[in-house]
Amino acid sequence: MDSRCFIRLYSKKSDFERLKDTLVGSDGKPYRNARNLAAGSIRCLDANICKEREISFFAFNILEGMEEFEDIRDNLSNMLLSLSEYGFGICPFLLVSPNESAEGIEPKIKTLTDLAEISDIPIDGMVLRFDSFSYSASLGRTGHHYNDGIAFKFEDDTYETVFRSIEWQTGRSGEIAPVAVFDTVEIDGCEVSRASLHNLTFIKGLELHPGCRILVSKRNMIIPHVEENLDRGNYQDMTPQTCPCCGQPTRIHSRAGDKGRIVETLHCDNPECGSRILQKFVHSQKRKP
Ligand SMILES: [Zn+2]
Repeated sequence: MDSRCFIRLYSKKSDFERLKDTLVGSDGKPYRNARNLAAGSIRCLDANICKEREISFFAFNILEGMEEFEDIRDNLSNMLLSLSEYGFGICPFLLVSPNESAEGIEPKIKTLTDLAEISDIPIDGMVLRFDSFSYSASLGRTGHHYNDGIAFKFEDDTYETVFRSIEWQTGRSGEIAPVAVFDTVEIDGCEVSRASLHNLTFIKGLELHPGCRILVSKRNMIIPHVEENLDRGNYQDMTPQTCPCCGQPTRIHSRAGDKGRIVETLHCDNPECGSRILQKFVHSQKRKP
């Protein structure tokens, strides 16, 4: 049998608990969780390190080969089960019918999370993908990923860093958008040092002040977001009195938000504001075919 598979490496939760106090990553800090330990270990490109740390793996997808299994070669589920007959660990899965309701999927999610718990496998989410390889292949791919599945995370990981300041950016409508600037953190292999703060109400809600420790995530693994302030209680109003671009006085606008909340936003009313004109020009150029 000849095949090329996608595998997932992982550290069992019990191994992580045993090893976490004795190992540090390339940045000199302890590994944050079992997944980071597995990722850090494989990045050493030394099989002995993975062996010493008891890094495990299971097959997640079959990319090539095993053509002799022609009657089931188009089914991911059957192919994974065949691999397990050869002694390979496989990613635990359950089949979901195309007509399954959300209520029908809930118990399956519970079964898989329970199974992960019993099996000592760290779990942070699930992947829904099509069973047919040929159908999956017909869906194509973007420059970044294949279109044959969706990953769901139970929650986004958060990373601690230090908030430094707010950058205010005047848009074409005149709304001045606040952007948090914080010490760079690496999230999923990307360096992140900025995140939208949305509006004045969001900033007040977080009680931000320069130097406070914050938790940052990448929501849905894409959009940087400030989740929490670990040093609440010293809110400092950083709202500029004048537009950062044209110097004209700013105006605070209140509007109704979700759940009866009032949301405050900051605006520049100067129609000659350089930022507003520039952003309008950029926008008009983007819309051209
Ligand atoms: Zn302005």
